Amino acid sequence: MQIKEILGLTPTQQSIVVKGWVRTKRVSSSVAFIAINDGSTIHNIQAVVSEGTVSEETLKLVTTGSCIAVTGKLIASQGQGQNVEVEVVSIEVYGTADPEKYPLQPKKHSLEFLREIAHLRPRTNTFSAILRVRHALAYAIHTYFNNNGFFYLHTPIITGSDAEGAGEMFRVTTLDPINPPLTEEGKVDYKEDFFGKETNLTVSGQLEGELGAMALSKVYTFGPTFRAENSNTTRHLAEFWMIEPEVAFNELVDNMDLAEDFTKFCIKYALDNCADDIAFLEKRLIEEEKNKKKEEQSELSLSEKLRFVTENEFERLTYTEAIDILLNSKAHKNGKFVYPVEWGIDLQSEHERYLVEKHFKKPVILTNYPKDIKAFYMKLDEDGKTVRAMDVLFPGIGEIIGGSQREDDYAKLLQRTKEVGIEEESIWWYLETRQFGSAPHAGFGLGFERLVLFVTGMSNIRDVIPFPRTPKTAEF
Ligand code: ATP
Ligand code: MG
Ligand code: MG
Ligand code: MG
Repeated sequence: MQIKEILGLTPTQQSIVVKGWVRTKRVSSSVAFIAINDGSTIHNIQAVVSEGTVSEETLKLVTTGSCIAVTGKLIASQGQGQNVEVEVVSIEVYGTADPEKYPLQPKKHSLEFLREIAHLRPRTNTFSAILRVRHALAYAIHTYFNNNGFFYLHTPIITGSDAEGAGEMFRVTTLDPINPPLTEEGKVDYKEDFFGKETNLTVSGQLEGELGAMALSKVYTFGPTFRAENSNTTRHLAEFWMIEPEVAFNELVDNMDLAEDFTKFCIKYALDNCADDIAFLEKRLIEEEKNKKKEEQSELSLSEKLRFVTENEFERLTYTEAIDILLNSKAHKNGKFVYPVEWGIDLQSEHERYLVEKHFKKPVILTNYPKDIKAFYMKLDEDGKTVRAMDVLFPGIGEIIGGSQREDDYAKLLQRTKEVGIEEESIWWYLETRQFGSAPHAGFGLGFERLVLFVTGMSNIRDVIPFPRTPKTAEF
């Protein structure tokens, strides 16, 4: 039985076995108290060992980090904050943990230190809480789509397409990297490669998702995506998970409604189902905030920040309106933005956070971005300058979702692919969907780790994925 379940039982002195990892051991004159955790909950169960029940040698092996099974009686606890505890009859030690060497001693470790021991950090309260919230959010995502008539579509991980056209791909090849076969012109001859052409790890499942939408009407993908972007920020990973719904017959406004409804559902789900973990993370955050300068301290607690999203209507405005607001802001006039504002720039997280946190004090959806800073597949607006793009911006994060209504007109799409230099032959299959029964459709991509980042209140994306992959770090 898992500790979460045991903690909910009524203590009737029944015999019970508890298995888990020792968090702490306290020895007073004639009793030892062992706090055990098995990762099923943030709470430990206390095992009480009276003198003489367990041999000295065994008790010596029970140290922080060791793995044990305790057999005993479930009794009412005298301690505060817990209903039950175990009166120990015997202990089996599965695995010891040398206290001289075990890195996770019962004290606060820095997140930087824990990142270096990603193989052990799930055993800390903070990371086990994050991993449980991450699980709950994944479950909420599938639940939301299943409840709303979407089909889960699996798109390829190895692909020949670069959906974003940003050239941030990891190549996949079976050719000898040092002496690849060459064509007569001296270029790499991909005919001899495994697939007979250049391939890479997917940066997004969207293009294939669109094919799904034009057959099943409502689909979503939820899979790993890879970007070889050398962004050493707290918001970017080289390997991250993306959720991409795609819906036939949806236009931009429907896409915005979906993004708002969907994110609110997921966050509410976490609030309802991970209350203990979120309360723990909130307390952790309050401690952390105390070490910050007063002006940098967040005005909202974690649960207030989550309700800030679930209870507010998202503000919706165009990119052009947002640029006007930024140009008229004190921050701009006093030169506070690192990246200068003008119409046509790709907004940076400092601008996005200004709009959300300072100006509107609400989550924001920006639409109709200049076509030159967005991907080729977005539907052109009547003015020919902007496209039906939308970015959803959250407090503390900036962009959490990027999406659009897609170009469904064959001639216009072909024109755009030419403008951005995509070869027609490389995405003939995509273009063909606009020739056979083209349908208006829209969708978006949500970076899963950015959602987990938001819900857990953590500040570095490396801390919300079990094994972070960033430039120069992939220990595992
Ligand atoms: P950003 O402007 O933050 O670099 P983007 O505009 O390049 O993001 P999109 O191509 O729009 O990203 O991808 C959709 C979503 O995927 C983003 O809104 C974000 O939530 C997430 N995302 C993009 N790149 C990364 C990354 N390197 N690591 C984690 N999440 C990412
Ligand atoms: Mg990017
Ligand atoms: Mg962006
Ligand atoms: Mg984007």
